[in-house]
Formats: sequence, structure tokens, C-alpha cells
Amino acid sequence: MLPVITLIGRPNVGKSTLFNRLTRTRDALVADFPGLTRDRQYGVGRIGPGPYILVDTGGIASSAEGIEALMERQVQRAVDEADHLLFLVDTKDGCTPEDVEIAQRLRRLGKPISLVVNKSDTTDPMLAVADFHRLGLGDPWAVSATQGLGVRTLIDHVFGLLPEQEKVAEADDEQSGTKVAVVGRPNAGKSTLINRLLGEERLVAFDSPGTTRDSIFVPFERLGRHYTLIDTAGLRRRARVQDAIEKFSVIKTLQAIEAANVVILVIDAHAGIGEQDATLAGHIIESGRALVVAINKWDGMDTEQRSQVRAQFSRKLGFLDFAKLHLVSALHGSGVGLLLDDVDTAYTNATRDLPTPELTRLLEAAVMEHQPPLVKGRRIKLRYAHQGGRNPPIVVIHGNQTEAVPESYRRYLINRFRKQLDLAGTPLRLEFKSGT
Ligand code: GDP
Ligand code: GDP
Repeated sequence: MLPVITLIGRPNVGKSTLFNRLTRTRDALVADFPGLTRDRQYGVGRIGPGPYILVDTGGIASSAEGIEALMERQVQRAVDEADHLLFLVDTKDGCTPEDVEIAQRLRRLGKPISLVVNKSDTTDPMLAVADFHRLGLGDPWAVSATQGLGVRTLIDHVFGLLPEQEKVAEADDEQSGTKVAVVGRPNAGKSTLINRLLGEERLVAFDSPGTTRDSIFVPFERLGRHYTLIDTAGLRRRARVQDAIEKFSVIKTLQAIEAANVVILVIDAHAGIGEQDATLAGHIIESGRALVVAINKWDGMDTEQRSQVRAQFSRKLGFLDFAKLHLVSALHGSGVGLLLDDVDTAYTNATRDLPTPELTRLLEAAVMEHQPPLVKGRRIKLRYAHQGGRNPPIVVIHGNQTEAVPESYRRYLINRFRKQLDLAGTPLRLEFKSGT
């Protein structure tokens, strides 16, 4: 499970700027999926020694709520969820009474905290931190979120303080097989679907208690293949405190997605496709995981309702078109068997070998049919391609002036590779490398 790092601080100190900087390494991928909405409060941080869940508490309260209530909720949230707190202050404002008050509360929590003095680009970094020692939270870290100064050092420091993450009984990959995360908003039917997939006799496996943040891992076997189902819904059935659950489920879902090879996204056809579904879809895209979509509760819907759901899906989640779509009823079991067949296909495609000669041939054909544009009178040259990773497959393209490849051309290449390589079920990522 990934560590959870939480940003705290009053409005305007730069929390969301820092959040974006730490999570944005995936932007290149996200750009390939127009229409994708990105969640502002949770993300997977990729700058640092390893990935981590990043929580921005700043976006939670409406401005009408007032600073008191805002802080209350931020602090509460931090207690519940974080492994480490980053308390942001703003050197331009100096140490404000609000900072002092937040610091007091944070100290009482006994959680590991780093004091981060942001906007240190606006002054001498030594002077920037001077005012903040009196907060009593140790040596302040000077950073600039907009320019990235000090950010990597800060995260390295935080990693040094993180608890040894409890490793989920990591049997070797042969044993655990394909890891499949079942995710979806509350009530979408995840538990019902998982029970179906496992068969009734496995129900008992769920009742092992999970913590608030952790999913339950359930190994099972089908037709001689091994899988591990990652159940994000387990806790819900025990504790029905709606509000608390909502808060926890995002982190848990992110953890599950990161731990999985293939995600099954469960959508409630009765409820329609909402913002939560789109946000989840966004997280899945950013993770690069293979995906199968299950539109659930298909039973008892008439033809018109069904076509409405289909139309809604392609309008709001059209960017998931690489994934196989299944119309299922977890309750009655219809359509459920086919899900795992497509999980297998998606996994196979996501982890396939893509030989260099094949990729290079495809690249040459694509370029022949549709040349990259001229940049300052010189044509962008794309010479050869090789595989740079799996799950998701990454295709690395070497050439000249590749940093100038426009978005439209990038998409053209992606679509072409996707189609010709027949990569159903997995997103594909392109990376460019310039020889000059
Ligand atoms: P939040 O309310 O804490 O999430 O703050 P924002 O991230 O929205 O930032 C508030 C303002 O501070 C924006 O105008 C940012 O551009 C600016 N800002 C954030 N980080 C820096 C920084 O490192 N240096 C400077 N000069 N401005 C920053
Ligand atoms: P979770 O929160 O995603 O785990 O959702 P649950 O599996 O607990 O299901 C939420 C509710 O939806 C329960 O009352 C289920 O009985 C119901 N439900 C789940 N799947 C279906 C289905 O395929 N059709 C119908 N009509 N109801 C379903």
C-alpha cells in the first residue's frame, strides 16, 4: 500500500500548486484522453523515491464555510488518513496568527509533520524560513511550488520518516496471479459482483477485518488461472456511517488501483453516470492500468433507459473507449462470467512483448501515410521505436525535435499503434526521445 501524504494549510499558501507539481508527471498521458476530468483533492504523487497518495485538503470546504470549520475538517481528516503531514505556510505573508493556531492543533496530533515554507522564490530562502521556527515544528523546509525548488529534497526527507509500510502478504507474483481491483462508487454493486465472481462459498473470506484505509485481498482460481481480487467495498458492509466511508473510499480506491494489474470499474446503471464515476475513470487513466467496465444493474431496465445509459457513457466517459464494456447484473449473475475473460485479455495485452522491429515498422508506415509537421522549416524526424514498459505498454519513439510533436500528431500515432497492435483493454503510452 502506498503511503499517504496530506497537505494542510490556510487558503492561498500554494497547496494546490504543490499538489499539481507532485502529481503532474502523468499529464502527458492524460493529454491523450480529451474529456477527462481530474480530481483536485487526491492524486498519486510521482516525484520522489517512490509513488505515494497525495491529499490536498484545501479543496474540501466551500469558502462560505469559514476558516474555523475548514481547519477543523482538515485536521480531522489528517488524523484519520495521513502517514505524514505537510503543513504549508507562505513566506510572503510571514507567520500569521492562523498559522500559529493550525500549528498548535497539529502538534497535538502527534503525527509526523514537515513544515513547508512555500513561495521562497520571492525572497532569499534563508530569510524565507526565519520567521517560522517559532511554530515549534522543527526546521522549516523552503520550497517554491511554482518553480519546483526544494520540492524533491522535501519529499526525499518525508520518505525517510515514513513508517515501514505494512507489506500486504506479497506472495510472489506467480502465486497471486493477475491482480484485479473492483472499484466503483458506493452502492454500484461491487460487493455483489465480487460475491458472484468468487461464488458463495468464498463469502467467508471477506470477513477478515480490514483497516479503514486498506482493501481486502482475496486470492482465487478459475480455469487454472490465478487471480487476486482487491475488494475496496469490504469495509462498507460493516460500518454504515455514510460520511466517513465516503472520505475513506477515495484513498482506498487509489491504493487498490495502484496495486492492480487490471481494474474492473463498476457503474450503477440505475444511478446514471455521475461526477464520481468520471473522477474514478480519471484516476484509472492516470494509473495506466488495464480496464474492464461493468455497467451493473442492467436487470429491470427498459429499452429506453438502457439506451440512455449507453449514450451517457459515451458522452461522459468516451475516453475509456479502449476498454471492453459489459452490461451486467451482479444480482442475477448475467454477463458476469464474461468479465473475467476480458480481464485476461486486457492483462495479456497490457503485458505483451512488443518487438522493436514491429514497432519501428508501424512507426515508419504511420509517418509515411501522414508526415509530422515542419517546425521552423525543419521536419520532425521520427526514426525508430522500442518498448519502454508494460502495464501500461509504453512505446518510446526516437527522433529529432520530438519535443515539438504536436498533441494532434501524438494522438494520431497513439490511435494507430493501438489499432494495429490490437491492444484492447489497456491504455498505451507514448514517450519521445530526441537524439539531438
Ligand atoms: P491553495 O489555496 O493553498 O491551494 O493555494 P494555490 O495553490 O491556489 O496558490 C495560491 C496562489 O499562490 C496562486 O496564485 C499561486 O500561483 C501562488 N503560488 C503558489 N505557489 C507559489 C510559489 O512557490 N511561488 C510564488 N511566487 N507563488 C506561488
Ligand atoms: P457496493 O457498495 O458497490 O459494494 O454495492 P453493493 O454490492 O453493496 O450493492 C448495493 C445495492 O445494490 C445492494 O442493495 C444490492 O443488492 C444492489 N445491487 C447490486 N447489484 C445489482 C444488480 O445487478 N441489480 C440490481 N437491481 N441491484 C443490484
